[in-house]
Amino acid sequence: MPTISETTSAPAPPLSVLSDEERMFQSTVRRFARERIAPHVREMDDASVFRKDLLHEMFELGLMGIEIPEQFGGQGGNFFQSVLAVEALAEVDPSAAVIADVQNTIANNILLRWGNDEQKRHYLPKLARDTVAAFALSEAGSGSDAFAMSTRATKHGDHYLITGRKLWITNAAEAGVYFLFANANPEAGYRGITCFLVERTFPGFQVGKKEDKLGIRASSTCELILDECRVPADNLLGEFGKGYKIAIETLNEGRIAIGAQMVGLAQGALNHSINYSKQRQQFGKVIADYQGIQFELAQMATEVEAARLLVYNGARLRDAGLPFVTEAAMAKYFASQVGEITASRAVEIFGGVGFTKDYPVEKLYRDAKIGRIYEGTSNMQKLTIAKQILGL
Ligand SMILES: Cc1cc2nc3c(=O)[nH]c(=O)nc-3n(C[C@H](O)[C@H](O)[C@H](O)COP(=O)(O)OP(=O)(O)OC[C@H]3O[C@@H](n4cnc5c(N)ncnc54)[C@H](O)[C@@H]3O)c2cc1C
Repeated sequence: MPTISETTSAPAPPLSVLSDEERMFQSTVRRFARERIAPHVREMDDASVFRKDLLHEMFELGLMGIEIPEQFGGQGGNFFQSVLAVEALAEVDPSAAVIADVQNTIANNILLRWGNDEQKRHYLPKLARDTVAAFALSEAGSGSDAFAMSTRATKHGDHYLITGRKLWITNAAEAGVYFLFANANPEAGYRGITCFLVERTFPGFQVGKKEDKLGIRASSTCELILDECRVPADNLLGEFGKGYKIAIETLNEGRIAIGAQMVGLAQGALNHSINYSKQRQQFGKVIADYQGIQFELAQMATEVEAARLLVYNGARLRDAGLPFVTEAAMAKYFASQVGEITASRAVEIFGGVGFTKDYPVEKLYRDAKIGRIYEGTSNMQKLTIAKQILGL
């Protein structure tokens, strides 16, 4: 039997310790968020539009092609770096974070994993350079039950005709390409669902109504209308009838980054609360001197750190090629809860001004709500976790 010293190898690094490369990348994104995005957050929220110049800068900085290999013009990074970017952006603006989130952890990720060589050669350089992408799965009648979709694709020679409507599509207003799911063989049920690469300029495609939302207002969310939209058969992504698998597996990964968005948001709310509590005086002292406020801040910091560890663990597991689906669901479920409660506490620490648009925590409170809804509601995450722990 080996002795303990014979079996002991180098200890695994602590979850929260970043490599030099990761730390440099994180500080670059943080600097960009603070210096370039922060001054425009309020105006973009009011206008419900994300500035084109900032989007352009995000492309320039490589933030829209983090995992795209360098040969295609990307950064050649990993999923964990995408998560770090989403977290750092969300600290300043959760809308900016979700734009990068959908591009990197959903769209680029789908193409890298499921695209054929020709599709990668054609689309990856565009996605890294200047083309925003969107993921179009949900419809009015199919949200949590996404595979009940009614959008249909029928083959006609060398192309498909797609007809239907998609709802709630993030990045839709800015996007040039849409990873869109339609059922191409309804008799086979969900096994008919197929993923297509649809370009905005394809005949029969239209971006419809933009939603007027509670939070993440600078991130566009629109309807898509497809009326016999003509899509070349070459733009079928992955295998015919395997769209359900592409959607599930992509969202399993993507929701780790939604957890990161909520961690960043919560950290932002905590940072604002710390700064404010050191300045605001009541009863002759700064409010940070009161134990009631100290305990609130301590609880917020602890919960943010716990959520971060769940998110980082999910991302590290994914990059290591290890099972991560339950951990990803836990990370998203918990981090979105922490995002909401931390932003709510921040509003209270600010008192009356926290309830106004003159201070940033009101917006973070509104932005937090979406974390429990998109990329699978909290109930859907709990179903995933319960299935695993009960062995169902
Ligand atoms: C801002 C925003 C951005 C979005 N971006 C995208 C996008 O880019 N692409 C895309 O495809 N979709 C997107 N969505 C859609 C999003 O993923 C769906 O809204 C979400 O999956 C929930 O679906 P639903 O709205 O139809 O709610 P429903 O599925 O109708 O759920 C309503 C309630 O019922 C609960 N529920 C449903 N089924 C069960 C069950 N079996 N057990 C227990 N509870 C259940 C849910 O948890 C929820 O509380 C976005 C939505 C929003 C609001």
